Amino acid sequence: MIEQQKICIKCILPDGFLGVNLNPEGMCDFCSDPDHKNINWSRKVIGTERRQTALENWNIVVVQMQQNHGKIPYDCILGYSGGKDSTALLDHLVNDLGLNPLAVTSDTGFMTDIAKDNMKDTLTQINVDHVLIEECIPTFTKLYKYHFFNHNSNETFLARYICDYCSDLIHSIVVKEAIRREIPYVLFGYSPDQIFRYFYEMPQEEVIKEWKPEILDTPFFDDSDNQWYLTDEEIENGDLPRVLLPYHVIPYREQDIIELVESKNYIKRGHADPLLTNCNVVHAATFYDFNRYSGILYAYQYAELVRQNPEERKKWVRTLKISAPLILENKFKHREVTAFFNQIGVSQEEMLNHIQEQLEKDPNREQIETNINMFRKKRRTKQVKAVPQ
Ligand SMILES: [Zn+2]
Repeated sequence: MIEQQKICIKCILPDGFLGVNLNPEGMCDFCSDPDHKNINWSRKVIGTERRQTALENWNIVVVQMQQNHGKIPYDCILGYSGGKDSTALLDHLVNDLGLNPLAVTSDTGFMTDIAKDNMKDTLTQINVDHVLIEECIPTFTKLYKYHFFNHNSNETFLARYICDYCSDLIHSIVVKEAIRREIPYVLFGYSPDQIFRYFYEMPQEEVIKEWKPEILDTPFFDDSDNQWYLTDEEIENGDLPRVLLPYHVIPYREQDIIELVESKNYIKRGHADPLLTNCNVVHAATFYDFNRYSGILYAYQYAELVRQNPEERKKWVRTLKISAPLILENKFKHREVTAFFNQIGVSQEEMLNHIQEQLEKDPNREQIETNINMFRKKRRTKQVKAVPQ
């Protein structure tokens, strides 16, 4: 019943899902028009020529790094998270290309134990220097707290804001490390589907303009937070490293990456699952978003997967129906979400009250509440049926 009436017949987006509407045939805006875009999602296609040019550039960069090998202490910096992609890239740089990268990790305070274990296992086998920066944790904590309490958009998810601001800070910390050590290249292991903001290279003008958020000027933040962002002096001196995303151009197959990191014992079997290394902040933002907007940011990504593989629709609709009530009630990743709320000093109840206040101001409130109830209903009916007559 649910999926036939309220969910797009081609993908999995519900009617009224942050600006998404179903037409009389039951098809959503994105399925009825391949060029449709909104603030949360647009299909990004990288042309063959652009991809080829970027690959040629990467090959030149590799040769340059190899030629300068030994002349400077490190050939490049790798932003290292302990996830499967940055682990596999580390292996590629060292074992395939013969380079000496410096692995740099900026701890957000919410790294999972699995990610930390992965790092330990990997670094006993790949002989590279590793810098773990932990002094930035209080700034990350403030950044999250600020967004959880000041997100007041009726158009876009908290998860989008949090992920953008958080990754800007991570990038910024790693780039500052490169400036300090005069290392010309910074690499991140983003996978080929992570192209919403950047393809292959983070352009320097954006690095300068976009990374330092205006909210830093609010009294909520102080100089201890500012220190993690690029200073005017660093920008004026102009020796910014190039920031590159090699997996956007070199061969990448998720299954091969998992096999590589597991077979070399960098990551224990079953621990390469992105859901396990995904940070707890994302899980908490998902709880916020589902209760606030009756949907989550990743639904757009899953919907696009379904559009590309229609036979997977059934599986995803089932996943949606099973996980929605759990997310709404904080039963999905409960421990992680609760730990996050503890760390930013708020109870689940306070957070729900805050979400409710925001929801009450939203002109789409009625539609959102209808969708939330649709996702909850399934469970209620079951519970009623479970009582013997
Ligand atoms: Zn659709």
